[in-house]
Amino acid sequence: MTQRLYMTEDTLAMDAAVVRCTPREDGHFDVVLSATLFHPQGGGQLSDRGTIGGVEVLRVLAVESEIVHVCERAVALGDTPIEVCAESRALHARLHSAGHLIGYCGEALGWRAVKGHHWPGEARVVFEGDAGTQAFDAQTIEAMANAHVDARLPRRTVLEGETRKIGFGALPLHGCGGTHVAVSSDVGRIRISKVKEKKGQVSVHYELALEGELA
Ligand SMILES: [Zn+2]
Repeated sequence: MTQRLYMTEDTLAMDAAVVRCTPREDGHFDVVLSATLFHPQGGGQLSDRGTIGGVEVLRVLAVESEIVHVCERAVALGDTPIEVCAESRALHARLHSAGHLIGYCGEALGWRAVKGHHWPGEARVVFEGDAGTQAFDAQTIEAMANAHVDARLPRRTVLEGETRKIGFGALPLHGCGGTHVAVSSDVGRIRISKVKEKKGQVSVHYELALEGELA
C-alpha cells in the first residue's frame, strides 16, 4: 500500500523509498514508492508530472491500494529524491479547486453537483436539479464563482477515517481525493465559457486565466 502524502501535504520534493521497479510492455517502467507526493490520474484530475531519481514520470495511476508511477527509464531501489513539477501541480490544483467553487455556486442556486472534470481545455462541472430548480446563465455563475475567489477563502482539510474532506472557508466540506490550492484566491480569474443543458443535466464549462500557458 502506498502512503498518499499528497492528500495531507503540499510538499513537492522529498526523499522516498523505491520498493519496486518493473519493466512494462511499452518499454517504460512501473515504479512503486513506499510513500508518494504524486497525485494519480483520477477523480476528474490528470496525474502530476515530475521526476523520481531524476527520471521523468510520464503518468501516475492508482492501482488498487498502490500508486504506480510510469517512468521513462528504470530507477534503483532504495531511497531516492522525488520531485513533483510545480507548474503542472499548480495548474491542476487551480482547475480542480475552481470546480469546487463553481460547485458551491450551483448548490447555492438549488442544484446538485454530480460530476467534475478538471482537465485543461475541457474543464466542466455537471449539475442536476429538480423540476423547477432556478435556471442560471454563464454570467451569473461566473460572478458568483469569482466572488469566492476574491474572498480569499482558506482551504479546510478534514480527515474522517479513510475519507478526506475538503472545503473552502465556511462553505460545505466535500469528500475529495484531488489536490487543491491553499487559498481560493490562488485559483485566479474563472471564466465560464458555456452553460449547456441536456437531459435534465446542466454542464458548466470553465477555463482559467493563464491556463493556456501551462496546458
Ligand atoms: Zn477536490
